[in-house]
Amino acid sequence: MIRVGVNGYGTIGKRVADAVAAQPDMALVGVAKTRPNYEAEAALRRGYDLHAAIAERADAFADAGIDLAGDLDDLIEASDVVVDCCPAGIGERNRARYAAHDTPAILQGGEAADVADVSFNARANYEAVRDSDAESARVVSCNTTALSRVLAPLEEEYGVEKARVTLIRRGGDPAETDRGPINDVVPDPVSIPSHHGPDVNTVLPGIAVDTLAVKAPVTRMHTHGLNVTLESTPEAGAVRDLLEAESRVFVIPEGAGVDGGGALKDYAMDAGRPRGDLWENCVWGESIQLQGSDLYLFENVHQEADVVPENVDAIRALATDVPAVESVARTDESLGVGL
Ligand code: NAD
Repeated sequence: MIRVGVNGYGTIGKRVADAVAAQPDMALVGVAKTRPNYEAEAALRRGYDLHAAIAERADAFADAGIDLAGDLDDLIEASDVVVDCCPAGIGERNRARYAAHDTPAILQGGEAADVADVSFNARANYEAVRDSDAESARVVSCNTTALSRVLAPLEEEYGVEKARVTLIRRGGDPAETDRGPINDVVPDPVSIPSHHGPDVNTVLPGIAVDTLAVKAPVTRMHTHGLNVTLESTPEAGAVRDLLEAESRVFVIPEGAGVDGGGALKDYAMDAGRPRGDLWENCVWGESIQLQGSDLYLFENVHQEADVVPENVDAIRALATDVPAVESVARTDESLGVGL
């Protein structure tokens, strides 16, 4: 059993904690939180041990009638691997603390690439990370995860000469009431390329990819428009078969009546997905088109969810000898990945 602690219990942390608890070869030691809010109460309701992320704030938990199992150092010490799900930039500050306990750590995509020993995406570089001496791994961001899942098989099957991607990013997550824009579509960043292309290269170093990004007043999902010049000229149907064979890519069937992120999230909830989560890239089947060697497609990405199975695989890559194919299959089966 791999004992796993989760530090930071927000959008990503709560999902990673549930995913870890669902694994047959992992045990969730507990989660660390800064304050006794509704998420702390929900964690207790799920039976998770709570730890004070900031020891001086432990009294606030006692005042709220919440029993703590210990502080962050206790959690780190009791864990074989810690998954840091703190806001961007805090993971960098926490790294030394994990190292002081000799506890390997997973960090998230909001951190700069050099904060961890390696960057990670299960489809792109699981075995390279597993076979390395890395003590920390950064699961690349939601957008980078999604791009890597599509570009890796395209590169293997056809060769990618050049990928150009426009990312329409959600303005904030549904609970982030202070994010925006609320009535505009804003280039973010205005300079080109956005950081996403270089970030793909942290896990797929050989691929030429340029990205442009805008922020839109939506909270549910990101939308990507891909144009990939391939080194050969397959039929659209063959590309579709290739993507359908990827367990973490869902090719939306024609006729399903799914016209956007609203319908996708509704579908996820109808399918009984926890929190309406879509762990898979959602690629519109009829958008997969080729003009010569230029491939086009649209996909939607549920930013709160797609990195969650990747975190589970990253834990195995750091802590075990389990092969990629086995880890991915175990993660997918225990979560129910694959629509
Ligand atoms: P979040 O704000 O929803 O959650 C972070 C949690 O950490 C909050 O509960 C916050 O109170 C807590 N926290 C703050 N300071 C802390 C500290 N010192 N110690 C412990 N906990 C602390 O953030 P998130 O969206 O879950 O993002 C976490 C990381 O995941 C970031 O690096 C982010 O870039 C990355 N990420 C986010 C998304 C997304 O769409 N939300 C997708 C992929 C990756």
